[in-house]
Amino acid sequence: MAAMYKLLIDGKLVDGARSIGVVDPATAETFAECACADEAQLNLAIDAASRAFPQWAALPQDERGRYLLAFADALEARHGELIDLLTREQGKPTREATHEVFGAIYVLRFFAGQSLPGGKIRDTDDGAIFRQYVPLGVVAAITPWNFPLLLMLGKVAPALTVGNTMVAKPAATTPLTACLLGSIAADILPPGVLNIIVDDNDLGAALTAHADIAKISFTGSTATGKRVMSSASNALKRITLELGGNDPAILLHDVDVEIAAPHIFAAAMMNAGQVCFAAKRIYAPAALVDRLCAELARLTKEAKVGAGADPETVIGPLQNAVQFEKVRRFLADAKAAGTLVAEGQPSNQAGFFVAPAIVRDLSDDAELVREEQFGPILPILSYNSIDEVIARANNSPYGLGATIWASDTEKAIAVAERINSGTVWINKHFDLPFDIPFGGAKQSGVGYELGERGLTEYTQVKVINMTHFPRSADVAAGPLS
Ligand code: NAD
Repeated sequence: MAAMYKLLIDGKLVDGARSIGVVDPATAETFAECACADEAQLNLAIDAASRAFPQWAALPQDERGRYLLAFADALEARHGELIDLLTREQGKPTREATHEVFGAIYVLRFFAGQSLPGGKIRDTDDGAIFRQYVPLGVVAAITPWNFPLLLMLGKVAPALTVGNTMVAKPAATTPLTACLLGSIAADILPPGVLNIIVDDNDLGAALTAHADIAKISFTGSTATGKRVMSSASNALKRITLELGGNDPAILLHDVDVEIAAPHIFAAAMMNAGQVCFAAKRIYAPAALVDRLCAELARLTKEAKVGAGADPETVIGPLQNAVQFEKVRRFLADAKAAGTLVAEGQPSNQAGFFVAPAIVRDLSDDAELVREEQFGPILPILSYNSIDEVIARANNSPYGLGATIWASDTEKAIAVAERINSGTVWINKHFDLPFDIPFGGAKQSGVGYELGERGLTEYTQVKVINMTHFPRSADVAAGPLS
């Protein structure tokens, strides 16, 4: 049977050399077949992107922008199909899938209107210095399974708008929305500008090591990010790595716990906790821990666990079997090492469901505190002084994000300034404006996405530095005159 979801190589939708079954996390059953490339097809995609590069790079930016806007319009015309497919393959509630699909469309529109014009930096009687931002060539985009559409288009949009071409590879457990994206792009973008390759979690190394890849934009785990960095070293390729996080949420003593708790719960449980910058460990002053636990317990019991397509669902299944087993292990260990405050109602369906759970009385050495759980299991930790909580929050190899919850925002800013992470949110969360750079400190990443800073990472800054020679008396004879 030919796979229904195809690869996009050189402008054509093609079957894979192999195929993979895609599992619905709400049922744990395979519901679709997807084309899967072998290394020869990967190489064809990279060749196509290389051949397409000179012409695409030579277009004026506003023409490339028009292609991206047409792509965004075509996605919007099929947003219902994208939302349903995203819910089905990823597991997230339809409401969250809707946000993701429109976020993906808006990121395309945003970058379609962005450019890096460069220009004259200095102009004197002696000469001038110009700066240009030139595209790099073929960019490899590698994405994980938690936000398959938004993370992919968050790379495609800036990379293409400044003139690169691309080979994009989704995670093997969420390839379908990427293929649908590819089938829509096939009718709009010139052949080879965007190629979509699906693998069985086995072509990432070949893609990153390929000599014709100029830059790798990778989002995924810190462990894989390290492999990407080492693979990129063969040709000193440019890299942007958006990696794991273990974000602390710190309540200050003056916070209104009843107001903050629902925000903190949402910050931890969105997408069943499978968010790189989800709140993953909560620090509350000792005097507030009981009240916070009581509020979070209530919210935990109220949150409906179920299939993403059910409009009542607040917490969908984990995305895949490996993550499901991992989170269940975290929960069992946390229950043994700490005190279970509350656990939600498990779904009676057969999928990868884990009910939300709140755990307290864990030490900072417990796995649930030290590691990224990427699931709906939340540790609540007690602290006694600001210096202590800042030291404990910073005592992590990760530094992606953090949140501070407080009434006195001046004090919250003072704490935020001492947190070693790429972003600190105060009294809010999940706010990533497209014009603001986002990146991880420490082992949460290298480089930035979004904003002008993120756009610049898809270019080489080139300087032309010149002086004027006196005009020669016999110019007319020169071959270039
Ligand atoms: P992963 O690292 O296992 O996989 C990510 C991608 O890398 C997949 O497409 C996979 O096929 C590919 N890959 C696997 N081996 C590779 C190799 N050797 N070379 C190149 N690519 C390879 O991550 P995951 O489990 O799919 O995703 C979850 C992780 O992603 C979490 O740690 C999460 O925090 C992180 N994440 C980070 C951000 C961010 O912006 N910082 C956003 C979302 C997710």
